Amino acid sequence: MAEQRKIALVTGGSRGLGKDMALRLAEKNFDVIITYHSKIDDARAVVSAIQSVGSKGHALKLDVSQAASFDAFASEVKAALKKEFNAEGFDALVNNAGTGLHVPFSDTTVEQFDSMVDIHLKAPYFLTQKLLPLINDGGSIVNISSGLARFSFPGYSAYGTMKGAIETLTRYQAKELGERRIRVNVVGPGAIATDFGGGIVRDNKELNSMISNLTVLGRVGEADDIGGVVAFLCGDDAKWVNAQRIEVSGGIFV
Ligand code: NAP
Repeated sequence: MAEQRKIALVTGGSRGLGKDMALRLAEKNFDVIITYHSKIDDARAVVSAIQSVGSKGHALKLDVSQAASFDAFASEVKAALKKEFNAEGFDALVNNAGTGLHVPFSDTTVEQFDSMVDIHLKAPYFLTQKLLPLINDGGSIVNISSGLARFSFPGYSAYGTMKGAIETLTRYQAKELGERRIRVNVVGPGAIATDFGGGIVRDNKELNSMISNLTVLGRVGEADDIGGVVAFLCGDDAKWVNAQRIEVSGGIFV
């Protein structure tokens, strides 16, 4: 009987960092389910790119701000695993989807704060909880944090606080899921030139050059600086890496 291929699920895999993670996982012989929120055409293009390297790909719609929908989403994942991959479970979950918020502490509203809680804390917590029965023993989870959990930039108090929380959550998940040999690690990207935050790191020359000057390797990050690290953490090469935070920033504020 043919060996069951490994399957990864990457939230927010239609663009930016999640897209690169999905493609790098596919290159490492994972079949990949990606989720998208609004951009179905981008998601379809990523699925085609996954298929072009010989892996299977599938896209599902998910709004991570709606925790009440996670039971239904888990059922959709279960059905897709059966139909598209002939599998009962999957091996790697990457909690990546998210949007930014740049507002001074003094002006942040309860609604803005709550949206960050929903997207960056409640989602990795409860989505992972609901998907847990579908994650194979011996699998892995990668949570996506940010350099902003370690250092502070004005305007990111709510966002950075959530990213700090996901790093704490990572250690608790690793502790409790160890009995099923599920490894849990967290990746903290530095500032990366994607659509994130309205594309500010990519498009705002002043910010781009300020970050480049603060970074040992002398530039801002690109999406393809991140995906390979996540794919490594999901795979067997990282089988003894657990409960770790890896910052992928070219060395900022060293
Ligand atoms: P991006 O280019 O803006 O892409 C965001 C992705 O998340 C897209 O796939 C989008 O789907 C999806 N998404 C957005 N809102 C969603 C929602 N409510 N529910 C479900 N999916 C949603 O952002 P990125 O730069 O790749 O960021 C990805 C992750 O890295 C985030 O967790 C972010 O906090 C973190 N991060 C980014 C940076 C950076 O500088 N870029 C630095 C550190 C950490 P659609 O395409 O369908 O809209």
